[in-house]
Amino acid sequence: MKYSKTILLSIAAMITLLACTSSPSSSNKEVVPTQEKVVKVEYPTDLTIDFIMGKFDPSVDTSFITISSEYADRAGLLMKKEAYAAFLEMHAAAKKDGIQLVIRSAARNFDYQKTIWEKKWTGKTILSNGENASTKYVDPVERARKILEYSSMPGTSRHHWGSDIDFNSFNNEWFEGGDGLKLFSWLENNAMTYGYCRPYSAKGTDRPHGYNEEKWHWTYMPLSKMYTAYAKEKLKPEMISGFQGSEAAVALDVVNHYVLGINNNCK
Ligand SMILES: [Zn+2]
Repeated sequence: MKYSKTILLSIAAMITLLACTSSPSSSNKEVVPTQEKVVKVEYPTDLTIDFIMGKFDPSVDTSFITISSEYADRAGLLMKKEAYAAFLEMHAAAKKDGIQLVIRSAARNFDYQKTIWEKKWTGKTILSNGENASTKYVDPVERARKILEYSSMPGTSRHHWGSDIDFNSFNNEWFEGGDGLKLFSWLENNAMTYGYCRPYSAKGTDRPHGYNEEKWHWTYMPLSKMYTAYAKEKLKPEMISGFQGSEAAVALDVVNHYVLGINNNCK
């Protein structure tokens, strides 16, 4: 009796096993792992490599808008319309909590970035650590690497896109105490609600390459996520030229290490 019960149970188990392994493929279809799904990014037809590289004039581009001087430290700054609409909502919410967001920089095209870059390259602008890059770093790759701690090469800046803005101060320390810390904590807790993310988070294992940390720089993800994906696909370091020091772009792998060297949460 004992044996036959065991045999019966074994047969039942085998039937169950066979039923599972030989079941029709329809049941397998339900458990396709999500990572196997290929997500093909559909880019808008007007998205071009010239746009990604800032080779256009945002002041005549109808997808850009002038930021009211009420929200900025000066008149005439520009950004993408969608990013501005989201910023206005965020600004109002912050204001209710006693936080005053001030835009210090927004869209900058290739020519604008070239001026910033070449001033640092030639030593006209002294680096934030007090060094003159042109005399301190004779080797072009070393000089470019030093400037790249805080400034992008023309053609590779997220500020080209109109989706990225800098708030209140260009000094990380300002965000580490008093009003600066209050503002920074508010952004850390609330910016994502409005689509804003901080691409230049602290360097470390999660972000081994790229610019140094910038607590002031925030990006409007619904747009910039797409631009980052486009840059990853189409922008090559050999395409970066037209300014002093551009020859270092290939050696420093500026697309992989800088354009894509951002906080994973913003990708
Ligand atoms: Zn910035």
